[in-house]
Amino acid sequence: MNNPLSLKNFSREKLEMPNDEKKLLLHSCCAPCAGEIMEAVKASDIKTTVYFYNPNIHPQEEYEIRKDENKRFCEKLGFKFIDADYDKDNWFERIKGLENEPERGKRCTQCFDMRFERSALYAHENGFNVYATTLGISRWKNMEQINNSGKRAAERYANIYYWDFNWRKKGGSSRMIEISKREEFYQQEYCGCVYSLRDTNKWRQQNNKDRIIRGIKFYN
Ligand code: SF4
Repeated sequence: MNNPLSLKNFSREKLEMPNDEKKLLLHSCCAPCAGEIMEAVKASDIKTTVYFYNPNIHPQEEYEIRKDENKRFCEKLGFKFIDADYDKDNWFERIKGLENEPERGKRCTQCFDMRFERSALYAHENGFNVYATTLGISRWKNMEQINNSGKRAAERYANIYYWDFNWRKKGGSSRMIEISKREEFYQQEYCGCVYSLRDTNKWRQQNNKDRIIRGIKFYN
């Protein structure tokens, strides 16, 4: 039976931005998470700039692959892409003492806070009143944790609003995978930081699975 929410049959509803705004700064973590969201905002004529600020990603070669994949899709859709700093030293400084926290724990809160504080600052300085993030579309993530960080960063500025739209609903999560396959995006196998790489490999070892080999897996 056809899935009415899959890309093939899906007719996108018109999204309304908060406060009837027409312009969005979209913090993006990677192409697979961004794909569905970018297509959704494009279909609603929301003028969107993608902001790639992810100093958590380790090592740099992995960072460059994820960034280039996102950039490639921005070029395809005609979106402006902002290549922000890879200030990894600041990231390591910020999460000092939280290296052994589990995923979705305190380290991740700091990681989200840092990325959203920079996104909100960029929005504030560059004429955006609304920003959002692609991070929440992944079912691996705690949406409440992400939204709390997003709102905290926005509260620093009187004119900035964090758009906490639930991109997973109405088939968003499945279309995210469909788009990733269609575009043959790079498929990362760990969240991003060196600690998530360590912990994912540990889990794989305990479950008799091969260690991650970075840079080779693509959706198809
Ligand atoms: S696991 Fe992911 S969200 Fe958490 S600190 Fe590492 S990169 Fe950031």
